[in-house]
Amino acid sequence: MKILVVEDEPKTGDYLRQGLSEAGYVVDLGRNGVDGLHLALTDAYDLAILDVMLPGLDGWQVLQGIRRAGKEMPVLFLTARDAVDDRVKGLELGADDYLVKPFAFSELLARVRTLLRRGGKAKEADRLNAADLELDLLRRRVTRAGKKIDLTSKEFALLELLLRRQGEVLPRSLIASQVWDMNFDSDTNVIEVAVRRLRAKMDDGFEPKLIRTVRGMGYVLETAECG
Ligand code: CA
Repeated sequence: MKILVVEDEPKTGDYLRQGLSEAGYVVDLGRNGVDGLHLALTDAYDLAILDVMLPGLDGWQVLQGIRRAGKEMPVLFLTARDAVDDRVKGLELGADDYLVKPFAFSELLARVRTLLRRGGKAKEADRLNAADLELDLLRRRVTRAGKKIDLTSKEFALLELLLRRQGEVLPRSLIASQVWDMNFDSDTNVIEVAVRRLRAKMDDGFEPKLIRTVRGMGYVLETAECG
């Protein structure tokens, strides 16, 4: 899942980017309205978090630009002013939710998760399954045969991607861009290492093995039925 954050205050922007990255999202940060709108229109995001008071274009104008371009991703506003006017204006312009600064990060994360569930692909499932493996998107929890499996945020994101595209061979370049937000560099073995660790946690000691390496191509998660 990819999130756009537009925030001009350096500390808040960095804090949001770091927190959301640690929660397993890929984050792009725009430091002003013009850059933010440019990012929103040139890349694909699952959610945008917009500060209202921005240099260049303000948050409202960024939102208008996003909606005018026909982009439907959910938008969460950050407003320093606890004014009913702001809230009404934001919602009228097509924002989906708002949060008054200062806020607790846990509160922001809860709103983000709710919006991501609601937005985009309508009625997205709360759980992804393969055989006896279950990934719970709400609780960010993974179990296999009922046994809890502890994953890092990157491992979780990797498993989520493999589960969402079950049966499909995912090239390393796609995994790199979706999970690490980096361009694929064949010299790096970061993906191989992550897949190995993920397998050790969710396939070792269990049957059937779910993640398969397709030599020279990438990885696929599949159950016996679709294999
Ligand atoms: Ca601001």
